[in-house]
Amino acid sequence: MNTKYIFVTGGVVSSLGKGIISASIGKLLQARGYSLTIQKFDPYINIDPGTLNPYEHGECYVTYDGMETDLDLGHYERFTGIRTTRDNSVTTGRIYKSVIDRERHGDYLGKTIQVVPHITDEIKRRIMREEDPTHYDFVITEVGGTIGDIESAPFMEAIRQLKWELGKDAVNIHLTYVPYLKAAGELKTKPTQHSVKELQSMGIQPDILILRTEKHLETAIRAKVASFCNVDLDCVVQSEDLPSIYEVPVNMQKQGLDTAILRKTGLLTTPTPSLGAWLTFLENLKTATEQVHIGLVGKYDLQDAYKSIRECLIQAAVYNHRKADIHFINSENITTENIADMLKGLDGIIICPGFGSRGIEGKIIAAQYTRTHDIPTFGICLGMQMMVIEFARNVLGYSDAHSKEIDENTPHNVIDIMEDQKNITNMGGTMRLGAYACELREGSRVREIYGEKMIQERHRHRYEFNNAFLSQYESNGMQCTGRNPESDLVEIVEIPDLKWYIGTQFHPEYSGTLLKPHPLFMDFIKTAIGR
Ligand code: GLN
Repeated sequence: MNTKYIFVTGGVVSSLGKGIISASIGKLLQARGYSLTIQKFDPYINIDPGTLNPYEHGECYVTYDGMETDLDLGHYERFTGIRTTRDNSVTTGRIYKSVIDRERHGDYLGKTIQVVPHITDEIKRRIMREEDPTHYDFVITEVGGTIGDIESAPFMEAIRQLKWELGKDAVNIHLTYVPYLKAAGELKTKPTQHSVKELQSMGIQPDILILRTEKHLETAIRAKVASFCNVDLDCVVQSEDLPSIYEVPVNMQKQGLDTAILRKTGLLTTPTPSLGAWLTFLENLKTATEQVHIGLVGKYDLQDAYKSIRECLIQAAVYNHRKADIHFINSENITTENIADMLKGLDGIIICPGFGSRGIEGKIIAAQYTRTHDIPTFGICLGMQMMVIEFARNVLGYSDAHSKEIDENTPHNVIDIMEDQKNITNMGGTMRLGAYACELREGSRVREIYGEKMIQERHRHRYEFNNAFLSQYESNGMQCTGRNPESDLVEIVEIPDLKWYIGTQFHPEYSGTLLKPHPLFMDFIKTAIGR
């Protein structure tokens, strides 16, 4: 079959959950046996979100092949289990960069380089994944931003051209918002009508509309939208607020979104498949009544900043028949006096990843408290580094121990800059990124948890455990049980004498999916429950 292209655009306001919708569409088509990939096109100028502050853009998600990307790629992977790559995340910056590089190289043979056709052609080339040899039945392309933004105009023009060229092989799914006006007691479709007009003014007729709404929309409202927007009634789908994002695919399936896509792309509409294990997960999510209380010790008081960690905790809790009750604990406010109070009632603690010195001492205090009180603790990347520093200060007796990232001149640099990071001046895309092998020590806790000797996990850091101190750590009770087989870099530390005190230099949270929850999070939650 010809590859079918689905374009997911958004209107009215941002933050409607286009990423979840795109991931859900992927899930539903996958359940029907189709092969697919989901990609995100972001209209900002940054080459990638790697240099963006999480307050600006939420978590930076890292692909297996080491691209720093938008957090929506995390949704794509968690929903479908399909791995994304650097080709699945494209920004305006990357588009312009490749066009400008080609221009400097002389590839355009003296032509004047313009937004149309050169930028739009480059967008089309990437949407069509011209360099990717894999055949996909469906390529789902989500375009960031809101319709009408100046920045997204070249993307819309590329979509218009592709829809024209591909005919039935391309569909546009437009996500809008239907606000409820309390004073009038009415749901309003006008913003949707305007948003569709805007899209039409760019030459794009949406095939399917998804209306985000806080209240149920009666058929009459959907019929009104259908007739004003030239869209079939069964192609006007509503996306009500739901208690869990994982219910979205089920809700979309109930309304026949996948059937509508098949019909629009000229495919046979076979009976709707069951979502199987996905439904079992949702059932367990609903029936779990008891909670497991987890503290996230970090510096970003923002849901999206630790998105993948949160989702991994939610998933692992459900598989252990619990509801994850996640508390954010701002490490900037932690002191030795208040730490007991701050962590009161929590079953387990995550010490979060991060960069820079803000909130560092609070993380070290938390690591000390949980170590000396045997509270299950999971340190991730910077969190692991803080466990290592705390151990040096309070067990090895080096009160000035630190990471070179924070203190250039510390004589006890237990966390040091990696050799190949020393002369780096360009900050974008130059960290140790993506998946690296890690060999797990026989007899260690992590070896038991993973059930295999060699694992691959994703990284995003510049600093590392300093092996000059390794033997001192091991003889004092902190074991380096995961090492990179080529470079010998320490990837995991654990204290076997404690219930669960494990730090990973890598980010396990990037690879947990709903149907394959991450073993470290599973075991961490299980231990936390047992406490
Ligand atoms: N700042 C630390 C480093 O670069 C940790 C990074 C992280 O937590 N992702 O090594």
